[in-house]
Amino acid sequence: MKSDIEICRETLLTPIDQIAQHAGIHADDLTPQGTLKAKVKPSILKRLADQPEGKLVVVTAITPTPLGEGKTVTTIGLAQGLAKLNKKVMACIRQPSMGPVFGVKGGAAGGGYSQVAPMEKLNLHLTGDIHAVTAAHNLAAAALDARLYHEERLGYDAFSVQTGMPALRIDINRIVWKRVMDHNDRALRMITVGKNEPGKNINGIEREDGFDISAASELMAILALAKDLADMRQRIGRIVLAYNLDGEPVTAEDLQVAGAMAVTMCEAIEPTLMQTLEGVPTLIHAGPFANIAHGNSSIIADRIALKLSEFTITEGGFGSDMGFEKACNIKAQQAGRGPDCAVVVATLRGLKANSGRYDLRPGQSLPDSIFAPDADALNDGFANLAWHINNAAKYGVPVVVAINRFPQDTDAELAQLKTLIEQATFPTRVEVAISEAFGKGGNGALELAQAVINACEQPAHFKPLYTLDQTLEEKLMTVAEVGYGACGIELSDLAKQQLAELKAHGHDNLAICMAKTPMSISHDPSQKGAPTQFTVPVRELKLCAGAGFVYALCGNVMTMPGLPEKPAYLSLDIDSDGNIIGLS
Ligand code: ADP
Ligand code: MG
Repeated sequence: MKSDIEICRETLLTPIDQIAQHAGIHADDLTPQGTLKAKVKPSILKRLADQPEGKLVVVTAITPTPLGEGKTVTTIGLAQGLAKLNKKVMACIRQPSMGPVFGVKGGAAGGGYSQVAPMEKLNLHLTGDIHAVTAAHNLAAAALDARLYHEERLGYDAFSVQTGMPALRIDINRIVWKRVMDHNDRALRMITVGKNEPGKNINGIEREDGFDISAASELMAILALAKDLADMRQRIGRIVLAYNLDGEPVTAEDLQVAGAMAVTMCEAIEPTLMQTLEGVPTLIHAGPFANIAHGNSSIIADRIALKLSEFTITEGGFGSDMGFEKACNIKAQQAGRGPDCAVVVATLRGLKANSGRYDLRPGQSLPDSIFAPDADALNDGFANLAWHINNAAKYGVPVVVAINRFPQDTDAELAQLKTLIEQATFPTRVEVAISEAFGKGGNGALELAQAVINACEQPAHFKPLYTLDQTLEEKLMTVAEVGYGACGIELSDLAKQQLAELKAHGHDNLAICMAKTPMSISHDPSQKGAPTQFTVPVRELKLCAGAGFVYALCGNVMTMPGLPEKPAYLSLDIDSDGNIIGLS
């Protein structure tokens, strides 16, 4: 089969203004960026205020392998399948971060005949939203170090007199805002800033700092959760950058940098319209990670798509314990709108990886045997799929299982998996379809599309696991016990102290965002399948007051990935006509 970029390049795409017009987006709602992508103004929502909303379908997955089990492929394929069945449909996905594109995973535009096009535009830069997030984030970091420097240099009283602004009295040991960039650069995880030449004091105040990847910036989560420009501006103001010498929070508003940050992001708030290989309109917006953030594309893009189409198909990062949990408990609660249907993507390789029969170590490639037929491994791994179906059902929505077919999968094993699902009992209606969206595009996802239509005809009784008025500790316990099936949580002394401080500062009503491994339902990546009898350790809590959640670090979570020995960028090149080679 041809490579993703070859397929994409050979496809005749439709000018984006025609895609927009067909979707019901008027010329004055649109700012074209070339001929194949365009920004959509959120003001379109005012014009569409009286339109009814379509159905919201969230694509999630089993506990994935590091290769990914095909949520994006299935999201795009399902949208194309629905379009083939004459449904009005839009897909909404996150913008890929360049870290993974050049690092391990490669691009995130889907694959085969189910891609967002042009895939190289989507995977690299697009319309610059990630750069805007990076610039706005680093503006706050620069502002903070400059303020620290000037207040220390002049003394607090003289600073106030000279500037007419109150001294913030930032505690140099409690600065909680690092710098960010959109690359996997392990060498920047820990750095020293403000180094001075001997005898000179012009470069600021020396302190230990570090970089995160831009997708880990709280601003990225804010972009995905804001309901409009005014809301984004308010949220930016609430970001806590540091604490002062009395232990009180210093916000972006206190630093008077929030306005300039919002200005820097004023175009990023507009989703980007693109198309799939079969011309289905697709909105790309924001790209928060699914561990330290909520891992879903934006509320604004969803709202636009819901108003314009009968079906909006979106994706939550990793398995249903991660992005889907957060789609329901964080995103849906902030949007005031939950999903109507969950699609759980399962693969034979992914279930075998969950069988416990393989020695899978983080950072190592999967053994070849995992791609070969093995009925026993599939039987054992099925427990993981059953867990994810039951998990999605906890939120009161109908579930459709999409078996994402890979070229090496045998009919016998696919039939075995279908039978396992059909013979199991679940608390909700479960439909199952084999998806060949990768190899055949929308035509390979007709059965899946029909299953989703049937599921959406059922009444959904969406309900999140917790309500925001519960305490942070109650919410943590609920996600661990009900969300993961754990026996409970174990708070470190630091986490207990932070819980008390968060409560004292009035943050008890925020949502909880669990930052744990995606490689297990538990906090321990070696626990495959459907683990039980585990207690989730909560090491540390981090406040994201602007995003509206507190994230809980359960185990080691990397906020600045590194490049592996053989990164994806090795195969990338460009010919003299400007054709990109080797992007997948
Ligand atoms: P996710 O969104 O769940 O992380 P992706 O949809 O990005 O997963 O798929 C992960 C990788 O696997 C991509 O490179 C994609 O092109 C590839 N892939 C997905 N489904 C198939 C399939 N059925 N056959 C071959 N390759 C596939
Ligand atoms: Mg994806």
